[in-house]
Amino acid sequence: MKSIRRKIMKCFAFAAITACLLFGQAHYSAPAYADGTQQTWSKPDKKIKKRKISGISWVELHRQYPHSFLLNGPRNKRRVALTFDDAPDPRVTPAILDILAKYEVRATFFIVGNRASRNPTLVKRIHKEGHIIGNHSYDHAVLSKLSLTNYRKQIEGTDSIIRNIVGYSPHFIRPPYGETLPHQVKWSKQAGFTIVNWDVDSVDWKNNPSDTRIIKNIKNTLQPGSIVLQHAGGGRGQSFAGTINALPKIIEMLHNKGYEIVTLPELVGQPAARR
Ligand SMILES: [Zn+2]
Repeated sequence: MKSIRRKIMKCFAFAAITACLLFGQAHYSAPAYADGTQQTWSKPDKKIKKRKISGISWVELHRQYPHSFLLNGPRNKRRVALTFDDAPDPRVTPAILDILAKYEVRATFFIVGNRASRNPTLVKRIHKEGHIIGNHSYDHAVLSKLSLTNYRKQIEGTDSIIRNIVGYSPHFIRPPYGETLPHQVKWSKQAGFTIVNWDVDSVDWKNNPSDTRIIKNIKNTLQPGSIVLQHAGGGRGQSFAGTINALPKIIEMLHNKGYEIVTLPELVGQPAARR
C-alpha cells in the first residue's frame, strides 16, 4: 500500500515539474520580430543579490573578475550611465536618439548582431551622434546555455559586424538577460572584453509599462555609480512607448538630483574600443 502511495506521489511530482518547465518555456520564449525572425526577450528580473549564474551570484562573479564583470561604476561620484539594449530597432531607436540629441546626453547602446546587419545605417547614426556601441550577441541567445565555441561565435560574429559598420571593436559585452557563465567571463577577459550588466532595471520590457512605472522602477535602486538598463528595441507586442515617454523625464529627474549622465567608458574608466 505504502509503495503504491509513493508511486502516486512520484507521479504527481513528475507532472508538476513537467508543467513548470512547459509553462516556463511557453511564458518566456520567442515572440517574433515584426520582420519574422525569432527573438527571445528579458525574463522577469530578481533583485541583483539573488541573480545567480551557474550557482554564483552576480556580486560574487564581480568579486572574482573585478575589472571584467561589472554591475556599476564608482559610488563616490554622482554619475550614472544610461544603457539601451536590443538596438538597432527602426521602430524605437530613432526616437530614443532624437531625445538624447535634444538633451545633449550620451548613452551606451548594446547592439544585436543580426539586427545590425539589417539596419547598418541606424548603427552608424548611433555612433555618429557620439554614443558608445556594445556587443549584445548575434541573435539574442541565452549565452549561459551555449558551449564556449558557440559563445565565441555569438560574440566574435557580432564584433566583426559592428567593426565593419563603425570601425571599432566594442570593448563592452552585455549578455542577453544578463546570463553568462564564469568561464565565458574568463574567455572574454582574455580576449579584451568587459562584461557589463546593471544595478538598475527600468523593467521597461515587461508588459509595456507606463512612463510613470518606469521612472518608479529606476528610482527604486538608483544611486551614484548606477548603470541603468533600458531598451531601444524589442519584439512583437513590445511598443516601448513608455520608455520613449519616460526618457525626457528621467534625464530631467537625474539632472535635478545633481547627477551627471555619462557613457559607460566614462563611468567605469575603461575604453570604448577593444585593444
Ligand atoms: Zn536584450
